[in-house]
Amino acid sequence: MRKVAVIGSGFGGLALAIRLQSAGLDVTLIEKRDKPGGRAYVWHDEGFTFDAGPTVITDPSCLEELFALSGRRLADYVELLPVTPFYRLMWEDGSVFDYSNDDAALNAQIAAMSPADVEGYRRFLTYSEGVFREGYEKLGHEAFLDFGQMVKAAPQLLRYEAYRSVYAMVSRYISDPRLREAFSFHTLLVGGNPFKTSSIYALIHALEKKWGVWFPRGGTHALVRGLLKLFTDLGGQVRMGSGVRTIKAAGERVTGVATDDGWSAAFDAVASNGDVVHTYRDLLGGHPRGVQMGQRLQRRSFSPSLFVTYFGLKRQHAHIPHHSILFGPRYRELLADIYSHGVVAEDFSLYLHHPTATDPALAPEGCSAFYVLSPVPHLGKAPIDWETFAPKYADRILGYLEKRLIPGLRDDLVTMRTFTPQNFATELGAHLGSAFSLEPVLWQSAWFRTHNRDDVLKNLYFVGAGTHPGAGVPGVVGSAKATAKLMIADLG
Ligand SMILES: Cc1cc2nc3c(=O)[nH]c(=O)nc-3n(C[C@H](O)[C@H](O)[C@H](O)COP(=O)(O)OP(=O)(O)OC[C@H]3O[C@@H](n4cnc5c(N)ncnc54)[C@H](O)[C@@H]3O)c2cc1C
Repeated sequence: MRKVAVIGSGFGGLALAIRLQSAGLDVTLIEKRDKPGGRAYVWHDEGFTFDAGPTVITDPSCLEELFALSGRRLADYVELLPVTPFYRLMWEDGSVFDYSNDDAALNAQIAAMSPADVEGYRRFLTYSEGVFREGYEKLGHEAFLDFGQMVKAAPQLLRYEAYRSVYAMVSRYISDPRLREAFSFHTLLVGGNPFKTSSIYALIHALEKKWGVWFPRGGTHALVRGLLKLFTDLGGQVRMGSGVRTIKAAGERVTGVATDDGWSAAFDAVASNGDVVHTYRDLLGGHPRGVQMGQRLQRRSFSPSLFVTYFGLKRQHAHIPHHSILFGPRYRELLADIYSHGVVAEDFSLYLHHPTATDPALAPEGCSAFYVLSPVPHLGKAPIDWETFAPKYADRILGYLEKRLIPGLRDDLVTMRTFTPQNFATELGAHLGSAFSLEPVLWQSAWFRTHNRDDVLKNLYFVGAGTHPGAGVPGVVGSAKATAKLMIADLG
């Protein structure tokens, strides 16, 4: 049986490990932290469950496929609960938009805000469905290993004007400034600035419309645990709390791995779900290819970071839906501060996660759990000492939420913790503390992203947010499908 190591148990690493083990390979999954999930880690504080990262679960079919490979059913491992509205969008002028896939409700809300945009939205939806078919269904799980594949995809990219930004494309169809924000903010969920990210990412609208938005009972980490259980049920082996220090290589092949705790083993192939810079620069630092690629990748543009405040309250807030976006006074300018100027602005646009709206068991009786996320520049643009700044910044954010949405918030606090750009760097090995790896711009997409198989070390593979198609749970699960196809073909 051919032996494979998968380094890292993010959604991408788990999905790849499951695919390879299902195909009859002997897979060892090696994770540095004490729990699986990567960005989808979890904390349990004073009876509250706080999922660290992904909360908007879309395209359940890509997850179901992982179970179906071995004739199993996702529903036997984890229960997915539908979430409606998908998001409540709120502006400082008091306007509210409940975003869902209910056409009648959507059209009524668009008509109430801007009657002329009802027809424009219909045309935007047609566009979004087109790019969804080309960009997600056809190319979302293909590895782009040679430039010829880019050339083949070029006519479609041109047809959908992929060189334009999502915001530019939305603005072609929709005129109301609030609705332009409502139909363009999604790129932020995968690390992209809607003013710079290729309009191909407008496909997220169609994707959510087709499959809806879901939340696992027990939280996102219940889904992570379900995937890990599937992997071990298939006979896969797991080494948790064991950071890989070195990927061993000889000539043009990798030969095995060695971990911080002194364990080492030989493997026929190695796949990394870790950060792409960390993998080349640190784990392969002794090999010329590692040095070369580490330097090359460090010159690329990385997505911003995030500042996340997790908090538990001693009261319930039935009026707050599961997912809210609180737009601040500025949109384009705030994003320029984050993406270009390296400024932590005085104003915010926030995403508020309220999981107890869907699953009250995630907090003690009568209480509620939340996290609030503020996009901030990565450490390369703003080298802030977050350990000192975090308490002040968290207090500013909670004060803003108190005024806008949750009166008495700080008096009701039972527990609170933060996750900063520094934590992304130290705990996840993320280059510059980026929350989503390489920025999803056209010149860093598909063939221009880290290849799912290294061009020189032919049995070294990559999976996860730094590879094609990119960040987000469906993205990294798609990257696992692309990488698994290569590995299964290569390993026979
Ligand atoms: C706060 C936040 C909210 C988000 N919300 C959403 C959302 O709602 N919906 C959505 O679809 N996406 C969301 N995303 C994006 C999504 O979570 C990520 O793109 C995705 O989970 C990344 O998965 P990955 O496979 O790249 O691995 P990662 O999650 O990056 O995991 C990589 C793993 O590799 C391990 N590792 C690294 N180096 C080593 C080493 N040397 N040895 C051993 N192990 C190592 C790490 O410890 C980690 O566990 C969010 C992200 C964040 C940060």
